[in-house]
Amino acid sequence: DPTGEPEGILTRASEKYHPNAKNTDRIDATLLALVRNEEVDDMVSSMIDLERTWNKKFNYPWTFFNDKPFTEEFKKKTSAVTNAKTYYEVIPDEHWDKPAWIDDQIFAESAKVLEENGVQYASMMSYHKMCRWNSGLFYKHPALKNTRYYWRVEPKVHFFCDIEYDVFRYMHDNNKTYGFTINLYDDPKTLPTLWPETVKFLAEHPDYLHENSAMKWLTDDVHRPDHNRQAQGYSTCHFWSNFEVADMEFWRSQAYEDYFNHLDRAGGFFYERWGDAPVHSIALGMLEDANKLHWFRDIGYQHIPFFNCPNSNKCKGCVTGRFTDGEAWLHREDCRPSYFQHVGMS
Ligand code: GDP
Ligand code: MN
Repeated sequence: DPTGEPEGILTRASEKYHPNAKNTDRIDATLLALVRNEEVDDMVSSMIDLERTWNKKFNYPWTFFNDKPFTEEFKKKTSAVTNAKTYYEVIPDEHWDKPAWIDDQIFAESAKVLEENGVQYASMMSYHKMCRWNSGLFYKHPALKNTRYYWRVEPKVHFFCDIEYDVFRYMHDNNKTYGFTINLYDDPKTLPTLWPETVKFLAEHPDYLHENSAMKWLTDDVHRPDHNRQAQGYSTCHFWSNFEVADMEFWRSQAYEDYFNHLDRAGGFFYERWGDAPVHSIALGMLEDANKLHWFRDIGYQHIPFFNCPNSNKCKGCVTGRFTDGEAWLHREDCRPSYFQHVGMS
């Protein structure tokens, strides 16, 4: 638009990105949510935020996943708050069930010990299944066969800032693999053997380590204020994966497939409480070019109790620079300074 007049741009954008547009500029991408039927109202509230700040301009489809069939109520309420297409998918049992090599007795005993040590959700089987599915299975769902990029959205999150550009096109055109907003330390008690298993994997596959990896970030032992919480060589700093915008070609690569299978066999998704966030982060930090990781500083975001709040007049309801509105100790969970030092600001 030669006059630079924003309304003109938006009018044209909304024609190009009309939900039924044939010659669309849209990338093969979807908004993606794993969610339970009973979370429908919190899902709708996340959708309303993201539609208002971004997706109403682009109309990327929403794809919902569940281990149980979605109810009519869920379909009705979620499809009512977007103009885009909505898809409702059931996860096949072979992707969700506990694998055959996981022993119930060992699971129960280790969960007991983890809970005694204060690890939340340790005995909740569905939480372990969820973390494993998010780590290594979601992108294998047949419904995503022709989809390359996704933006993961959880129920009850908030988006604060108007985003005028196509985030998926940005990823594609700038050759980015993974975008995040928040970087946190993890509780080392959830993953005592994750780093030792990773070291074993790397010894078996030295070629998989990328020549421009972010290993210095993964192994940083300086920034963490509370040093004894480092986990056997892993800083525990991870991309907080309830927000992620990513290229599934990475998860679908042989290197990641081999890494996930190694971890899956090792048992820590059940006998410990490995999260998909540290698993994704370690994989990206060692197997991917660090230049392909991107901090979305401009996307205002909250998942309780943490925020990413940009300094911009495009944001409403987000206090600039706020990281948490929770207790004081939560401020020490931010590990972006370590990330910026070792990887940079891009
Ligand atoms: P937290 O953020 O670590 O506390 O975990 P959440 O309870 O928010 O779970 C993460 C995401 O997975 C959310 O989008 C949940 O709706 C979803 N989720 C967790 N467990 C299940 C489950 O058993 N079934 C389904 N369908 N979704 C789940
Ligand atoms: Mn959550």
